[in-house]
Amino acid sequence: MVRPVAILALQGAVEPHRVKLSELGEEGVPVRTAAELAACRGLILPGGESTTLLNLIEHYRLAEPLAEFAAAHPVWGVCAGAILMAERVENPEQLSFGWMPLTVRRNAYGRQNESFIDRVALKLPGQPPAQMEGVFIRAPRIVEANGGLTVLAEHGGSPVTVQYGHHLATTFHPELSSSQALHRHFLSLCDGAAERSGRRLA
Ligand code: GLN
Repeated sequence: MVRPVAILALQGAVEPHRVKLSELGEEGVPVRTAAELAACRGLILPGGESTTLLNLIEHYRLAEPLAEFAAAHPVWGVCAGAILMAERVENPEQLSFGWMPLTVRRNAYGRQNESFIDRVALKLPGQPPAQMEGVFIRAPRIVEANGGLTVLAEHGGSPVTVQYGHHLATTFHPELSSSQALHRHFLSLCDGAAERSGRRLA
């Protein structure tokens, strides 16, 4: 049986990811405990408020189970989730997991523009360049992306989705637009990781 994809369900935009995965024929499971997480093959850290998410992760003692899971499985950080995955966070500085060699600046798009919708350019592996709608909600900006990262989407010449190994970080909300492209790509990473661990077990 194919294991489902976890969506961390402590706070933020959980349900729209579940709907998007189910449109693609996949089960997305809201998770709140280490045991629920362990039954899954990938994890989405949804958008919300990164400071609140950090506090809840500490409160429920999830930092270690999340780090163990991330070492072996694909994780996709979306907006606040991308902030958690970065190596360094600015405006203000705050703790983060450091799973991707990124510096991100919170709420980086200025006051009148704090939330907006605009086209983003997709450059997904093995696919022709495409566009999708990017819903930016008090979004962070990737201000530094170190070696080993692949840029999968850009807006205004800046990366808005990057991949590092089997991890993804997206600064906007793909679950709130009609495009399935990035969810499809994340599922391909989850399936690749499952295949790799299958081969290791074989
Ligand atoms: N501004 C939020 C933060 O700094 C992120 C916003 C979002 O996830 N849409 O955590």
